[in-house]
Amino acid sequence: MKRWCTDLWEGFWTVLIGMKVTWRHLFTRSVTLQYPDVKWQLPPRTRMRLFMKYEDCIGCGQCVRACPVSCIYLKAEKRPTTEPAIFAANGQPIKLDVHVFDIDMSLCCYCNLCTYPCPTDCIYMTPEYEFATTDLTHHLYHFAKNDAKFLTVNPKAAAAPPKPAPPAPPAAPAPGAPPTPPPASPAGA
Ligand code: SF4
Ligand code: SF4
Repeated sequence: MKRWCTDLWEGFWTVLIGMKVTWRHLFTRSVTLQYPDVKWQLPPRTRMRLFMKYEDCIGCGQCVRACPVSCIYLKAEKRPTTEPAIFAANGQPIKLDVHVFDIDMSLCCYCNLCTYPCPTDCIYMTPEYEFATTDLTHHLYHFAKNDAKFLTVNPKAAAAPPKPAPPAPPAAPAPGAPPTPPPASPAGA
């Protein structure tokens, strides 16, 4: 009988302790979100999935050389000189045709090193993090495209030159200074 009462009391006491913890958390601010219905607003410089704006890539390969895990694959060849000139958004002439530009995000370590040397700032990390998949081949992103619309006018050359500054008004004479003589008339006038 004594053993039965002890077990009953311990069971009751355990429930009381659990309810105490529950009760305490009823009045504390939640630190979790109901993901995926609610999501954190990530800072714009968050390092998540890479993106490459194909229309601005000049095929220089600097991102490929900077990548420590070699997960960027690039194939480019010289553009025929008979083709019209095309330009990146910052005015860099595009002299190579980029046929392949793939990034394997399953190998990427999100170090961001590929973005720094890019002369046209066309490769950058985005706050996009919802790209989990059970098939790793889905992490091989192809950025080269056939229907890309390139700039055919150099945006730098097209920029309007800055307007010259208006001439400064003549300075007022200092108090007590003799008045400035009028300009001499031309001889014979
Ligand atoms: S973030 Fe780092 S690992 Fe990923 S592609 Fe760029 S350089 Fe390579
Ligand atoms: S560094 Fe920039 S411009 Fe050069 S190949 Fe990479 S993405 Fe293209």
